[in-house]
Amino acid sequence: MSLPRASLGFFPTPVHPLARLERRLAAQGPRPSLFIKRDDQSGVAIGGNKVRKLEFLIGEALARGCDTVVTAGAQQSNHCRQTAAAAAMSGLECHLVLGGEKPSRVTGNLLLDQLFGAQIHWAGEHRKGEDLPRLVETLEEQGRTPCLVPYGGSSAVGASGFVAAMDELKAQIRAGEIPAPTHILVASSSGGTHAGMVVGAALNDLDTTIHGIAIDKEEHGGGTYADWLVGLTNETAALHDLRKHHARIDVSLDERFLGGGYGVVGDLEREAIALLARTEGILVDPVYTGRVFGALLAMIRAGEFSEDDRVLFWHTGGTPAVFAYAEELAMRPASDT
Ligand SMILES: *Cc1c(COP(=O)(O)O)cnc(C)c1O
Repeated sequence: MSLPRASLGFFPTPVHPLARLERRLAAQGPRPSLFIKRDDQSGVAIGGNKVRKLEFLIGEALARGCDTVVTAGAQQSNHCRQTAAAAAMSGLECHLVLGGEKPSRVTGNLLLDQLFGAQIHWAGEHRKGEDLPRLVETLEEQGRTPCLVPYGGSSAVGASGFVAAMDELKAQIRAGEIPAPTHILVASSSGGTHAGMVVGAALNDLDTTIHGIAIDKEEHGGGTYADWLVGLTNETAALHDLRKHHARIDVSLDERFLGGGYGVVGDLEREAIALLARTEGILVDPVYTGRVFGALLAMIRAGEFSEDDRVLFWHTGGTPAVFAYAEELAMRPASDT
């Protein structure tokens, strides 16, 4: 399947073992081998997973002759920050519809949105793009040619970035950079990342269980998130002619780690962030990757993997949110523990 694609990120992103963490966990009982895929190092605007989707979404916007992109998200949306940067790189105007009201303190992703020159519209309760159609209309009336980038970049076109990511992973396995993982853990929130990986794994005959760790309790696309995710996976599979390959599609969504809901930091996230930072010098974020890494630790402690398993933690970025959650993350200095 050949889709228009803009070259934005630095790929392939690195893969490597988490050896110090493994040794630390081994003291507590049997544990699998652990590896990490560094999409937090994907290059654009402090990195993250949305760059992979934006290569296809911006590619399509340019092919369609758009001069403006519009998208939506939460106030600390990584997707909006990366879209703003991708638009700047591509000579497109960028409008962001963000949930909530204008805060008194501008930090984290919101600060970066402004630095990248995005125009920000505050949407109150509507953090999932409910106001986008009206904004598109207004921009058209003003003589612009806007392209809508869906919430989270999660359409079949956006998910194609993660179909390509699985080609990239397959090549890294072939080259011996890491062994083939038996399990992959990744955040699943607007669905494009998870859906694309499931389709890409099938196309590449990767025999691995992809555990999507759910991040957001709320309904999505007018129904449950699980229904939305399966629908998006099927659309992505159709776009890539997967049926021709007779592949089995298996969508595994784990909703056990939702805690207080989207963006609510609990002990799971706090402990995970501190452990990875202190053993490996790697930052995970309070909303997505901290929750997924916390889920991984909980699953290891519960004996859900065997010692023969090779588990790949897919780091999807989110680093700037660390600064916006400074108060929730403030913890005892290491010398107190
Ligand atoms: C958006 C995002 C995710 C989730 O990806 P989806 O494709 O929306 O499910 C995971 N991690 C980070 C840091 C993100 O910004």
